Amino acid sequence: MNYILEAEGLNTFYGRSHILFNVSLAVSPGETVCLMGRNGAGKTTTFRSLMGLTSPREGRVMFKNMDCTGQPSYKMARMGMGFVPEDRRIFGPLTVMENLELGRISGRKGRWNSQTVMEHFPILDSCRQRYGGSLSGGEQQMLTIARALMGNPDLLVLDEPTEGLAPVIVSVLKDLIMSLKSTETTILLSEQNIRFATSVSDRVVVIDKGHVVYTGTMEEFKRDENIQAKYLAV
Ligand code: ATP
Repeated sequence: MNYILEAEGLNTFYGRSHILFNVSLAVSPGETVCLMGRNGAGKTTTFRSLMGLTSPREGRVMFKNMDCTGQPSYKMARMGMGFVPEDRRIFGPLTVMENLELGRISGRKGRWNSQTVMEHFPILDSCRQRYGGSLSGGEQQMLTIARALMGNPDLLVLDEPTEGLAPVIVSVLKDLIMSLKSTETTILLSEQNIRFATSVSDRVVVIDKGHVVYTGTMEEFKRDENIQAKYLAV
């Protein structure tokens, strides 16, 4: 199988606390894969391990057929892993345009630039000169995704993108992800919102207490109410 990302047997610790236990997951080019799990299941830690923000003590991260285990996050970003953290990290005193420009990564070229990004994000186009700090939660979420796209990532990693967003904004975000999928953007996201996850993803990986407990296609997952009831808050 041809994977753009393949993580095998990750064991990650915070100090002496063992958080991830042999976590494995893979993403093929063009796919949208969702890592699902309850609060504290280990979704963010998995992404931090992939992105080199917290090095796994054991295991291997292959990205674009290169062993990138424990590489610092700036190198992962240069290699084409675009990470949108849960806490968004918008620069409040900078305008929308200035925040966007910070997403450029020298040497990375592709279809995304400020013009193509704005075409995809009309919500941002209408507030180019506003300060990041004055944006709503939904606008900030769009801006962090747009900023990550400015680096022309080969893989977009979104940590709980719907967290804290009003249902109407979740629906805008869904349309946005669907339109990114139509451009063959490869996406790995984490979610607790089953409805959102099932509407945008091709495959699901479920994590619970730091263990991967399920991997399957979205169709299989939708039929498996047992898994949903056991490992996800429904
Ligand atoms: P959430 O939806 O709450 O972000 P998550 O699935 O992303 O959940 P993680 O943030 O990866 O979960 O947390 C996994 C476990 O690691 C939790 O038990 C959490 O309490 C613990 N943890 C997270 N960050 C730290 C830290 N810096 N030091 C020690 N333990 C931590």
